[in-house]
Amino acid sequence: MLDDSILKQARQQKRTQLTEIESKEFVKEAGIPVTETKLARTKKEAISLSKEIGFPVVMKIASSDIIHKSDSGGVKLGLKNVTQVGNAYSEIMLSIKQGFPQAKIQGVSMQKMARPGVEVIIGMSKDAQFGPVIMFGLGGILVEVLKDISFRIVPLTRRDATEMIREVKGYELLQGYRGQEAANIPSLEQLILKVSQFVDQNPQIKELDLNPIFAYKDGALAVDARIILEESVEG
Ligand code: ADP
Ligand code: MG
Repeated sequence: MLDDSILKQARQQKRTQLTEIESKEFVKEAGIPVTETKLARTKKEAISLSKEIGFPVVMKIASSDIIHKSDSGGVKLGLKNVTQVGNAYSEIMLSIKQGFPQAKIQGVSMQKMARPGVEVIIGMSKDAQFGPVIMFGLGGILVEVLKDISFRIVPLTRRDATEMIREVKGYELLQGYRGQEAANIPSLEQLILKVSQFVDQNPQIKELDLNPIFAYKDGALAVDARIILEESVEG
């Protein structure tokens, strides 16, 4: 079940889009590994949180009105010290105020800069005929430009998970490419199955996006998450 307090708050505020922090809380409860992410409401909080988290850190705009955080100038990666964190805070706020003057801003989300891995995407959307379907693909141009993705209908079997990873054209990239570490395929299969279970048990979720997930030789980690709820309260 979804965490009631987050759900209630979203319903009260009449929004169907959960923030990165809220979305990560949910998927984390389902056993899906995510970068621990905290909200800073002021520059001062951002600076003190960055010291707690440990450098380098990542800062992102936290606003339920902004879906694409990096397109709006709302993501700063690899910040190495408090000066950079302070500057990043000002730059993010400026860019959002210019681009989205109406957006309600909660603050910035703060997390550790994850080490690079192969970027993959797991998503769920609802098909008019088939209901919830899970999507898998490799991050970046493979998904965005080449639409190199695979789909299966929820609930997925272990075999579905195995097949959908192997059938994307980018599969070879998961086996190590130009010195990049290979991805652990069994842990990606597990992750896909966990997402399937999670959305199956929570029909009030309309859309889910884990984009990107960094795949490593010993596991996988989602660094961004986005959940959209169904309109109806019963959902
Ligand atoms: P959005 O999808 O809303 O633009 P993301 O949170 O996905 O924003 O961030 C944009 C990109 O920044 C990601 O695709 C990823 O490459 C990188 N990124 C985000 N968070 C982290 C992190 N914690 N560590 C390393 N890279 C990150
Ligand atoms: Mg993203």
